[in-house]
Amino acid sequence: MKYITEYRDAKLVQGVLDEIHRKVTQPWVIMEICGGQTHAIVRHGLDQLLPEQIELVHGPGCPVCVTPLELIDKALAIAAQPGVIFTSYGDMLRVPGTKRDLFSVRATGGDVRVVYSPLDAIKIAQENPDREVVFFAIGFETTAPANAMSVVQAQTLGLSNYSTLVSHVRVPPAMHAILGSPHNRVQGFLAAGHVCAVMGYWEYLPLAEQYGVPIVVTGFEPLDIARGILAVVVQLEGGRAEAENSYARIVTLEGNKPAQALIQRVFEPCDRKWRGIGVIPESGWKLRPSFASFDAALRFDVEDIRPEESPLCIAGQILQGLKKPTDCTAFGVQCTPENPLGATMVSSEGACAAYYRYGRGMDVEAA
Ligand code: SF4
Repeated sequence: MKYITEYRDAKLVQGVLDEIHRKVTQPWVIMEICGGQTHAIVRHGLDQLLPEQIELVHGPGCPVCVTPLELIDKALAIAAQPGVIFTSYGDMLRVPGTKRDLFSVRATGGDVRVVYSPLDAIKIAQENPDREVVFFAIGFETTAPANAMSVVQAQTLGLSNYSTLVSHVRVPPAMHAILGSPHNRVQGFLAAGHVCAVMGYWEYLPLAEQYGVPIVVTGFEPLDIARGILAVVVQLEGGRAEAENSYARIVTLEGNKPAQALIQRVFEPCDRKWRGIGVIPESGWKLRPSFASFDAALRFDVEDIRPEESPLCIAGQILQGLKKPTDCTAFGVQCTPENPLGATMVSSEGACAAYYRYGRGMDVEAA
């Protein structure tokens, strides 16, 4: 197939769904890791077209959702400082900290700017040599190469007014944490195609073997997702548990080696706290000591922060596949996109936002 419309062809998708119906003989719980896939599934109603034995649960692959609250509060404190230009992807502006968000910092005089790439932040730093320019570097393996590149470029240009607040997370350690939990329900995974485009899927081979779960690299169009689910079901029903690539038009086993080398040059592994979940060993990247001068967390003295999560929010359990957004008593009542209590309600990849946007589990029309 050559064109994206073919991956949205209802007849082709229905053919794969029919095949899934023919193959399934017993209940299975399958997790899609990526929030982009969650939105595609809910938007196209794929979960409602599957056999009732198949339950899809939504994983932690929403970078905005898992960025720890204390780091959001730290970002808010830095952004409010005079002389700072705080740059971020647009998704982060509505994410609630303990008391406010980046929008409200901007409304009270903070210079908060939306950028589409960290390289835009580099340009802003060059144009404003008398200001401190900070980039909020969140994300999974997909955004790490560009963020690493910005640090290398800042070093090459001798920019002393650029720094980055880093909160990178990695998918495989999160899968370890989910599969190793005594409460785990997940029996098969759809792995995120864009992460694997950078990292390959070689890391998933030992994971599938260790935990006895199929892991299928899957894309984002309806046909991609249906094919990914079919591949997981075929493995489960056949008693196999392998890492498999169902997104071969984009992903290779090895991934993008130059991008991986750039990440390795700038970042090193670290334990990372995931919002609502807790610390997952070796699940993050931080700047290497040789790039410490670009670390905004070291440059700005904002250590006295005591974050406080809404007691109503169960996003952590949703991100581990233990609950659905509609299990939350605040969903659509106290918590809406206009008044979010948790990050999963505002992020474009958040499961609560997907359910709310497409009217899932609500008595009202889709927003
Ligand atoms: S609906 Fe709101 S409060 Fe409930 S889990 Fe989702 S983000 Fe948290």
